[in-house]
Amino acid sequence: MFDSFGRDITYLRLSVTDRCNLRCLYCMPDDVELLPRCDVLSLEELRRLAGIFIGLGIRKLRLTGGEPLVRRGIETLVRGLGREVVAGRLEEFTLTTNGTHLAEHADTLRAAGMRRINVSLDSLDPERFRRITGRDELPRALEGIAAAAAAGLEVKINTVVLKGENADEIDDLIRWCGANGHDITLIETMPLGRLAECHRDWHVPLDEIRRRIAARWTLRPSHHRTGGPARFFEIAETGRRLGFIAAVSHRFCSECNRVRLTCTGTMTACLGSDAGVELRPILRAADGDGPVEAAIRAGVAAKPQGHGFAVAGFRAFAGQQSRMCRTGG
Ligand code: SAM
Ligand code: SF4
Repeated sequence: MFDSFGRDITYLRLSVTDRCNLRCLYCMPDDVELLPRCDVLSLEELRRLAGIFIGLGIRKLRLTGGEPLVRRGIETLVRGLGREVVAGRLEEFTLTTNGTHLAEHADTLRAAGMRRINVSLDSLDPERFRRITGRDELPRALEGIAAAAAAGLEVKINTVVLKGENADEIDDLIRWCGANGHDITLIETMPLGRLAECHRDWHVPLDEIRRRIAARWTLRPSHHRTGGPARFFEIAETGRRLGFIAAVSHRFCSECNRVRLTCTGTMTACLGSDAGVELRPILRAADGDGPVEAAIRAGVAAKPQGHGFAVAGFRAFAGQQSRMCRTGG
């Protein structure tokens, strides 16, 4: 599927739930309004839609959320999509998780053909972890990461860098990742949803963080690419990769190959835009897959050229309905 700017869309991020057991400062407010269950796609609907996307040319699929591993019955969907891997229709099947439920699911994920997963971890300090995520779950997250590695999954750590919260802990995270065999990617905060108001307080441009890191570690530019927005370096001292996702201060839209599907069946072609195609009513009304395929193609054709996040003047997406926990990060 090519969009109107010639980008080949091969990557689907599938949000399977808006629920989460954590309440990260930058993602979900404590009083988050959860969706009525009837608005959320059933596991069968998620499986059917994923199959349609794969039929249209999606080759890489990432499960996300909310927290994908708190969705009841998630293992059924994982096994079903694992069959697409076995059939050679899906080249990469993966997951982004907060890690706290990984220990129970790691073997199933590996058996379904996952090779690498991303685990979000913003601090190694229990008190900071609790402050950032709202829950005392650091031990469970670390246990989940260890279980995933033991099951044969390569774990990449994702860390959102927050001024005043964890920006001074990056060296410790780099050291810990080096000692435990994980690559790490640092993520710049994005001004999404209601939390957009606080964004200015937390935002640190990743160029600044990179300069600080480069003063203490030997960074060598790496050609490694994941087809996503991350840019990588090799850290000579640890032998691991360090990635940067600077969505706000560096635009990466020209290479964007992805679309997202929310857990309610809205396809969004850009995280920085509210435009979306409602696939759920079409899916529920249609006997065959034709109308859904046509709607997906139309959504891809309308993919905007670039996101509209702006740091200067901070035009935040405060009015955006599709918060990260619904859209899937
Ligand atoms: N619950 C899973 C997790 O935390 O990995 C998957 C969903 S979460 C929404 C996906 C990613 O989005 C996480 O790495 C999270 O840190 C990131 N994220 C959420 N809100 C963000 C924001 N406002 N700016 C930047 N990254 C954000
Ligand atoms: Fe939950 Fe992930 Fe959002 Fe944190 S970032 S609240 S773990 S969905």
